[in-house]
Amino acid sequence: MGRPEFFAAPCLALLLVALSTAGCTRSEPAQPNLLLIVVDTLRADHLGGYGYPLATSPAIDALAEQGVLFEEAIAPAPWTRPSAATLLTGLLPETLGLTCASHNLPREGCDVLPAGAVTLAERLAAAGYDTAAVVANIQVDSLFGFAQGYDEFASVFPDLTHDMQARADWSSFEWEDTTTRDVTDKARAWLAERGRARSPFFLYLHYLDPHEPYTPPAEHARLFAAADYDSPYPEVRRELPLYDGEIHYVDSAVGRVLDSLTAAGLDDNTIVLLTSDHGEAFGEHGALDRRHGLTLFDDQLHVPLIVRAPGRLKEGVRVTAQVRLVDVLPSLLELMGLEPSGLLQGHSLLALARGGADPRLDAVAAWGYRPLRALRTPPWKLIVDRRSGRTSLYNLAADPLEQHDVARGQGALTLLLRDRMQRRLDESSKLREALVATAGEQAGGGSHDSAPLPLSDRQREALRALGYLDDE
Ligand SMILES: [Zn+2]
Repeated sequence: MGRPEFFAAPCLALLLVALSTAGCTRSEPAQPNLLLIVVDTLRADHLGGYGYPLATSPAIDALAEQGVLFEEAIAPAPWTRPSAATLLTGLLPETLGLTCASHNLPREGCDVLPAGAVTLAERLAAAGYDTAAVVANIQVDSLFGFAQGYDEFASVFPDLTHDMQARADWSSFEWEDTTTRDVTDKARAWLAERGRARSPFFLYLHYLDPHEPYTPPAEHARLFAAADYDSPYPEVRRELPLYDGEIHYVDSAVGRVLDSLTAAGLDDNTIVLLTSDHGEAFGEHGALDRRHGLTLFDDQLHVPLIVRAPGRLKEGVRVTAQVRLVDVLPSLLELMGLEPSGLLQGHSLLALARGGADPRLDAVAAWGYRPLRALRTPPWKLIVDRRSGRTSLYNLAADPLEQHDVARGQGALTLLLRDRMQRRLDESSKLREALVATAGEQAGGGSHDSAPLPLSDRQREALRALGYLDDE
């Protein structure tokens, strides 16, 4: 609807001469396509590329070998909605106001991605991209505001309904394993059609597996049945082979999508980015420490981050520095040659991916189902429980499994890090005010514009004072 068709005019001219569209897209300047694959609940350390000893992920490992693998990517929250929102907007959950965890009807203002936030899809649509999404987790459904900016948005739930009350009652939702097959089939069909398209595309796939219930198809389930899993809890020893089977299942699906990309002749000009929204706990911190959303330990925050960008990024690169999901969007914009305009809290990782120095980025994580906040600044990880007041400190270099709280012996450092974490959270609160103010002005100004938010002089100054907008 009215967005620029950058490729249409020259293609039309060529069409008149050659009476063929075949050469059009190929001969145009190579504005790259983007395929974003989010595999829900995928722990980085259960992938071969991240050192896992079992063969769970041949396709994802091969993808990593063709691009850049970030060894230490950190999610901003241990559950889907806030984490995916950060990935897709470049803003932290508290900035977006996504600070509730309603299990029933979402509350406007704390459960729904605000209309004033500019999503990656909106940015790319404004740049002339065709945008499409296939999602299998209702947390990133249109219900929660995640369909902003897409020409096509498909949710592949088993019981798709437009009754918002019924759809919002997601705690009684039956997760079915057909979603992985459905996402894959829709993606493959969509990619097969792209050969005739004139615009570049953005395709976002969100797989639900390996989210519980862990019920992979039999041929994947049996692969890890005989493996030796080290856990004191029988239920965890029963679940881990199935979780790994699910990873193998979704890995094979990812492989099929990548094969379709190749078959459509789109490999060379498509950036592929694969990540997850959070990890999964398997009793690492006690019998009750399972699933996700309840703690901020690394088993729930450490996610894979892999980018393949032929001709733009070298192959076989491994980045050891800590990076964050909030950095993904500004990195993609730079990689795609697009302006990082408007509100953004992350930093582009391109220099780092090309061998630059560690930018020493603090990762703040929060917004689980409990009032926990964390600051991760290697080698230190601070976790504060705002309800009990308990503060824990871990030295990740000496204690990567976060088993030994050293806060008592490190009083001064703990206070320092607590203060630093609070400053980061305060920055988000101030940005939140700017976002709300800007959205309000925009709403008063007529129709919603999908371009990055316009800022008043006052907002611009306020943001610059916080260290943002320094790229202008
Ligand atoms: Zn999730």
